[in-house]
This record gives sequence, C-alpha cells and structure tokens, in this order.
Amino acid sequence: MKPQITAFENEGQRVVRFEDSTCGLSGVIAIDSLALGPATGGCRFWHYDDVESMLVDARRLARGMSYKNAMAGLPLGGGKSVIQRPHGRFDRDTLFRSFARVLNSLGGDYLAAEDVGTTPHDMEVVRSVSPHVLGLPSNGAMAGGDPSPWTALGVHLCIEHLLSRRGMTLAGSRIAVQGLGSVGADLCRKLHEGGATLVVADVHDHAVERLLADVSAQVVSPDAIHCSDVDLFAPCALGGGLNPETIPHIQASMVVGAANNQLATNADDDRLHARGILYAPDYVVNAGGIINVAAEYLGQDQREVFDRVGRIPARLSAVLERAQADKQSPSRVADAMARELIEDAVPLVRSQDVRAGASHL
Ligand code: NAD
Repeated sequence: MKPQITAFENEGQRVVRFEDSTCGLSGVIAIDSLALGPATGGCRFWHYDDVESMLVDARRLARGMSYKNAMAGLPLGGGKSVIQRPHGRFDRDTLFRSFARVLNSLGGDYLAAEDVGTTPHDMEVVRSVSPHVLGLPSNGAMAGGDPSPWTALGVHLCIEHLLSRRGMTLAGSRIAVQGLGSVGADLCRKLHEGGATLVVADVHDHAVERLLADVSAQVVSPDAIHCSDVDLFAPCALGGGLNPETIPHIQASMVVGAANNQLATNADDDRLHARGILYAPDYVVNAGGIINVAAEYLGQDQREVFDRVGRIPARLSAVLERAQADKQSPSRVADAMARELIEDAVPLVRSQDVRAGASHL
C-alpha cells in the first residue's frame, strides 16, 4: 500500500505530510529552499507529542539546513524530514521502505540522510526503494557512510580555533559536553586526546558508560551540565538547550557544539551576547556531516571532505570578525550571510546540474 501524502505551502516552505497506517509511518518533510540545489538534510526518527510538534521541528530544521548548506558553500538547498517513532512494536525496515516511497513522490527535490535516531542501515533500506538518499556506507576512499565523525571533527577544529583566539589550548582547558551520542562521544575522545578535562552528561546511562570505557570524565546530571564551571560548553544533544532558564546559569565563556537549533529563539542569542558569552552559530560549526553527505552525492573522495571540513574554522572566523565589526551577535551575522548567499544563488535545481556544478565547490 502507498503512503498517504498531502503537500501544502507554509510561510514560503513546502511541507509534505505523510502517513502509512499499515506500518505505522507518520511524518513530515519540510523543503525550505531549492535556490542552491536539491533540499538536503537528515531524517530524524523521534518521539513527538503530536503532528504540530513534528511540523514545527521539521520546518525549523529545514531552515537551518538552508543556512548550513549555503554557509558551507555546498550546491544544496535546505530540507529536513521527521518521522514519529511508533510506540510499541513495529517493523523498522518496512517503515523506512514506505518513507522511501514518499521520497520518490518528490522526484529528488528532497534528499534524505541520517539524523538523530536514524542509522546508515536505515538509509540502505531507503536506498533499496529510492535513489533520493545519502549517508550510505562508503565504498573505499570515496565519501559516504556515517556523517557523525566528520561533524565531530568540524566541532573539534572550531573548539581548538576559539581557544587559540583566547591564547588557550585544549591541554589545560575544561570543557562540558552535553549528549554523548554519535557526535558527542567522538568529540569527547578527540578533546580527551588533546588534553582537555571533560565534564559530561547524557540522559541515557549506557551512553555515559560507553564513553567512560575510553576516556576519563566527570559525570554530572543532564539538568546541571550547562551550569558546569568550565571554559567551554559543547551542546551535542537536542535543540533548544540555550533558553531563558539555562542561559543565566552558564559558567562557560564560549558555547560551541554540534546540536542543531541550540538557541530556543533568536532572543536567546541576545541573552548570550548580553552576558558576554561567545556563541558559535551551530550550523556553521556542525557542517562536517553535510559536507561528507554532499561529497558522496557529488562522487568526491574523503580527501576532499577532509579539506573542506578543515575550512570550517576559517568560515567561523569570518562570521566572528563581521560580528565584531558590525557590533552584532555571531548568530545574527551568520543568518545574514547565509541569506545573502541564498539570494545571490544561480538556481541549480536538477540533480544532473548540481553534479555538473561540483566545480563550484
Ligand atoms: P545521537 O542521537 O547519536 O546522540 C544524541 C545524544 O544526546 C544521545 O546519547 C541522547 O541520549 C542524548 N541526549 C538527549 N537529550 C539529552 C539531554 N537533555 N541531556 C543530555 N543528553 C541528552 O545524535 P548525534 O548524531 O550525536 O547528534 C547530536 C546533535 O548534533 C543533534 O542535535 C543533531 O541534530 C546534531 N547534528 C548531528 C550531525 C551528525 O552528523 N550526526 C550533524 C549535524 C548536527
């Protein structure tokens, strides 16, 4: 049976609502922009309270992907999918095959990859039905596979860069990491290797235990991680962690992490700025994963990904310098820079045009 699909426009975004009661599939795809290329962004598999929460999450994450892809210099637009994780038993592969049929109905306007709750195996299952998916296991030296290590690498390089701007190094610095999943745990290992002292938290004990098998770290409650007495706070869990309740208690002078949509609202950016806390815009810092996904799409190798991820700190530096010159917060400046890139775009919408445009990278 085919999934039921309804599409509508909402404040300039194309929203696709889909359901397949035979396998428990229920979700939303939001396409924010096709100006730079096909809308590309991960597929989140998570428990949502209702359809409205899925809509809000997908739309916000899709806008973030437009900005992230533009700032990373990728020939990709912004989109995101969210799928409700069914309560009770369900057949995961059947559910992802049904999702693949939804992707086919969009004819390549949206390309999916992994996000919170989805795995390279899920993407392989989708690929058995639809070509509009990335993040597949890599083939030799070519780009592909789990984007998380590349995201962690980009965040790690940005942390080193910001510490060095303050005359510090990883050795001797104290860093709090919130969320010890694919990215957070990898980041912790890199920071530990560099000599940083770690304070960590995760809502799942098994994630903490897995990390402590490799590195030493002080473990604190997930409710208190943002209050840690550290130099730098790295949010690597879910979005919205920087909000009116948490910001007054942040001790760190820098916030640099992998989580998408760390600011609950734009006003929280102003709150951090007012407290003199440097916030490195999430989508600038966490672009490593999508750079890997784009390279897979464009048929590039891992060397290319490594070089491009290595350029993320320079992009962050450009944002911080313009923010200082304009006396604006880094997040507002990054948004403005991303919008300029999208508005100036020469549209490359069809996939063959995008691949031909790889030389623009
Ligand atoms: P993941 O699901 O592997 O890990 C998330 C971890 O956060 C889990 O261990 C979870 O238990 C923990 N967590 C959830 N809520 C928490 C809380 N309140 N306090 C502490 N821990 C909490 O996800 P991931 O792939 O590591 O991604 C982490 C974040 O980075 C997400 O926001 C994701 O959107 C973003 N991101 C990931 C990538 C990537 O390549 N995976 C790329 C860009 C952005």
